[in-house]
Amino acid sequence: MRCPFCRGEDSRVVDSREVEEGQAIRRRRSCSTCGRRFTTIEELVLSVVKRSGVTEPFSREKVVRGVRRACQGRPVEEDALQQLAHQVEDTVRSLGVSELPSHEVGLAILGPLRELDEVAYLRFASVYRAYSSVEDFEKEITDLRAARRAAQAGAEQNAESGRE
Ligand SMILES: [Zn+2]
Repeated sequence: MRCPFCRGEDSRVVDSREVEEGQAIRRRRSCSTCGRRFTTIEELVLSVVKRSGVTEPFSREKVVRGVRRACQGRPVEEDALQQLAHQVEDTVRSLGVSELPSHEVGLAILGPLRELDEVAYLRFASVYRAYSSVEDFEKEITDLRAARRAAQAGAEQNAESGRE
């Protein structure tokens, strides 16, 4: 990489450290020509393969944009969107692959989005799973209710065992 000051081609690394929990390395460089210092970042690129076959780097910002659309008019804070995107990134990075199909990213969004806002989840899922009928929605809502009941039952059980 050329020096941003003098365009010199040679530089040496004076310091390097892991950032983003080891997903990237930041290097401090010193230009061999002018002696000025600059920083470079080398990061592991996780590629997302779109349905068209085109690949693009995974982007948290893109996850946020997709989820934000589903959250329109819902009481969801920007912070929660950012947090969700981080969670999605952790999930897809922990798969231990360098390339993954875009629907895997969608799948990683569904879980945390359901926790965040059920209406936004239904909107997102209807696009992601390509619902084609009212019955598809009904089934999804039935599943949601069942999951909510199961969670409540679990909480009550915990409360009961706590009393013993
Ligand atoms: Zn230079």
